[in-house]
Amino acid sequence: MDHFLYQDGILHAEDVALTDIAATIGTPFYCYSAATLTRHYKLFSEALSPLPHLVCFAIKSLSNIAILKLLGDLGAGMDVVSIGEYHRARAAGVPGNRIVFSGVGKTRDEMRTALLGGIRQFNVESEPELRALSQVATALGMTAPIALRVNPDVDARTHAKIATGKKENKFGIPITRAPQIYAEAATLPGIQVVGIDVHIGSQLTELEPFEQAFQKVADLTELLRSQGHSITRLDLGGGLGIPYTRSNEAPPLPLDYGAMIKRTLGHLNCEIEIEPGRLISGNSGILVSKVIYNKQGEGRDFLILDAAMNDLIRPSMYDAHHDIVPVIEPAPGILPQPFDVVGPVCETGDTFAKQRDLPPMAEGDLVVFRSAGAYGAVMASEYNTRPLVPEVLVQGDHFAVIRARPTFEDILKRDSIPEWL
Ligand SMILES: *Cc1c(COP(=O)(O)O)cnc(C)c1O
Repeated sequence: MDHFLYQDGILHAEDVALTDIAATIGTPFYCYSAATLTRHYKLFSEALSPLPHLVCFAIKSLSNIAILKLLGDLGAGMDVVSIGEYHRARAAGVPGNRIVFSGVGKTRDEMRTALLGGIRQFNVESEPELRALSQVATALGMTAPIALRVNPDVDARTHAKIATGKKENKFGIPITRAPQIYAEAATLPGIQVVGIDVHIGSQLTELEPFEQAFQKVADLTELLRSQGHSITRLDLGGGLGIPYTRSNEAPPLPLDYGAMIKRTLGHLNCEIEIEPGRLISGNSGILVSKVIYNKQGEGRDFLILDAAMNDLIRPSMYDAHHDIVPVIEPAPGILPQPFDVVGPVCETGDTFAKQRDLPPMAEGDLVVFRSAGAYGAVMASEYNTRPLVPEVLVQGDHFAVIRARPTFEDILKRDSIPEWL
């Protein structure tokens, strides 16, 4: 469920007409609903209750500081995968003891900054990283709390580019070698083992791969405890999928995911951490765009929009489907017609959808890409020197620009011409 519905024939974000936002700031823009973000965060938190838990929002899915503040104020922790994201979380007022640091290639500089600034735990992904962290922490006279990210070798049954839990993926340490590496961690100065971490992929539409992975984590917890390690936290990663189409079979609900976690891990008396990104942000955001031209091609019509692959790359990168709907509700009985929906960028890959049924559309009409809150704005670029797409947050009947569209002056002044040219 989200808060993007037609009211009096105009698509609204909560109680704000998208036509009003478009008239104020122009198009294209991302628009997020505070009520939807809040609702999704609470679904997870409630699903894990009464287990002690922390829902750490995966910042990489949507990293605007205003969004992080909204979630942080609700009590969310944050999952960061770079020190840049760490700075965002801190700028949003999230304390270090609610931030977990994931990622396969943390640098020593990043470790130092996080240790000095305060961090809940590092999710360590390799032996070299473990040793580097030990050295960095020792040099600072500090202790780094860690979980080792184990790779459980399960098939997440999702798109190959976002599956992370098979042994051929670059992530984590093979679960079979975990006892050996935990034994080493226990001997390293500056390292304090607190738990186990796992994250098997994104946009999972079944609970079964999670359950297989979590069962392996449960077994590992008992084994490591029998070897004398203190395992008090289990970080289960993110990855729960969302419906991208109205007709799709519905992916599992957070409530069922939580029940499965309690069933597989509840008896271990651990604090549970989860790192959902997409399920919190995905259906909380849309991309609003305007039709530049309706171009009649040979045997097909192209709807050329002012949004392009640089603003929303998921269709060209993951073959992702986004529902596209008009902002002005079509009159009943209007016959849809098929369009190829494209952007103005000079790449054939700049195609959002082929032969998509839409009501008749004309220059200046507004359209919305649904389910664009996750991995949308964060993956945007300025390819073709198209200004970085702005972001708007709606709450009730008011909205605010939370990232402004840069001017061409802003863009050009980032480059500099060397004196000797
Ligand atoms: C990407 C990622 C997530 C979030 O995944 P979603 O599918 O957006 O829930 C969580 N944890 C880690 C380590 C990740 O890399």
